[in-house]
Amino acid sequence: MNYPRVIVAGGGIGGLSLALSLHQAGIAVRVYEAVGDPAPLGVGINLQPTAVRELTELGLGDPLAETGIATRRLNLCNKFGQLIHDEPRGLAAGYRWPQYSIHRGELQLLLLRAVRDRIGDGNVRGGLRLTGFEQDDDCVRAHFADRKSGSNQIDQADILVGADGIHSAIRHQLYPAEGAPRFAQQMLWRAAVEAEPFLDGQTQIIAGHFHQRIIVYPIGRRSSGKTLINWICQKTVLDRAPPREDWNRPVAKEEVLAAFGGWKFPWLDLPALIGQSADIYEFPLVDRDPVTAWSFGRVTLLGDAAHPMQPIGGQAGSQAILDARALTRALSETRDPVAALLRYEDERRPAMNDIILRNRNLGPEAAMQLAEERAPAGFDRINDVISRSELDAIVNSFATVAGLDVETVNTRPSYVRRDSLS
Ligand SMILES: Cc1cc2nc3c(=O)[nH]c(=O)nc-3n(C[C@H](O)[C@H](O)[C@H](O)COP(=O)(O)OP(=O)(O)OC[C@H]3O[C@@H](n4cnc5c(N)ncnc54)[C@H](O)[C@@H]3O)c2cc1C
Repeated sequence: MNYPRVIVAGGGIGGLSLALSLHQAGIAVRVYEAVGDPAPLGVGINLQPTAVRELTELGLGDPLAETGIATRRLNLCNKFGQLIHDEPRGLAAGYRWPQYSIHRGELQLLLLRAVRDRIGDGNVRGGLRLTGFEQDDDCVRAHFADRKSGSNQIDQADILVGADGIHSAIRHQLYPAEGAPRFAQQMLWRAAVEAEPFLDGQTQIIAGHFHQRIIVYPIGRRSSGKTLINWICQKTVLDRAPPREDWNRPVAKEEVLAAFGGWKFPWLDLPALIGQSADIYEFPLVDRDPVTAWSFGRVTLLGDAAHPMQPIGGQAGSQAILDARALTRALSETRDPVAALLRYEDERRPAMNDIILRNRNLGPEAAMQLAEERAPAGFDRINDVISRSELDAIVNSFATVAGLDVETVNTRPSYVRRDSLS
């Protein structure tokens, strides 16, 4: 079979995973990234076992293990740090692959190194921002603006994939009336800071309730014996207009301490972590409404460009990786590339649209809101406040729907099978 040539716009987690995946399947690919020289930007991100499985099948198991923390537990707590629910994660939950909590920028650079090694530097073109495209029956032509010179460049291929994030230029061309992302009236303040490990050094905690909560987890080991800890403070802000989301907008420490300065637990000193953090970033909680199509002829969307979602349950990065694998399978098993894009979309879009809407409803963290409503001053025993069966119903509903349950992840066939590569 003659495989199509693919242009990927966007060298983030999704675009780079797609490049590695297409290369593994023998499909020619070129990646264009708006940023000229990617720095390790961002703070923590979670890779669920289903995505770690895919990166492992791409030969990246060892560098991932060296870079991230294999998360063993998730603790849901109230605003006093009292435990509401805890559950095993990754290997401890019976998955054959770990869950990794990892620095997003370090993950991006790890992927970028592998992409450059495998497809060659010349096929990874930085500093070129996609500005638009046109297509006909034979090919698609993508237009790029060179950041440095301001000149325009055109490249042509059989397929164009928009992996260009929440402000996707390709999505904008497909949906010109869509407007800005939808602001959920909550702000996230976040940083990564080196500190002593807390609890067992492999536990992720979410504490508080819907209107004010924290998410804290380790994302890397340091030679000093310290841990790189990712912390997020999230707060309802009814009085703020939606700010333009920018992953690198700094915020003053004092503003965060004014809201979270009292959140000190016996096992976690959040105010101290905030105090030690050199750079704190703010980001509005945003997503976009689901769309009715991703694939238009020779053009499709992937990752945040296709399904920007609120970060409940740590799904965005993992789902971008699964998109990459599903698209690769469709392109390697379907003769007509236009039909392949529709097949990819059919497989992925319904589930992703479902997650976008579910993530607006809190997921397993609904248990924390219930505890706050029923016991705002704290509790002696959580089961006096929420029964065991109520808790189980809340926390189990999300995993099954998203296809993330242990059985499905452990037993599903590989996306890119050796016998489909001939
Ligand atoms: C700088 C940055 C920091 C982030 N930090 C975090 C974090 O700390 N925690 C977290 O959970 N998530 C973070 N995210 C989002 C997270 O990476 C995504 O939600 C998820 O991984 C899905 O990945 P993606 O590849 O679809 O999108 P992204 O990772 O957002 O990647 C999109 C890529 O496309 C590039 N791009 C954008 N427009 C164009 C264009 N017109 N032409 C060419 N290239 C373009 C961007 O520079 C970026 O590299 C961050 C994203 C970015 C861009």
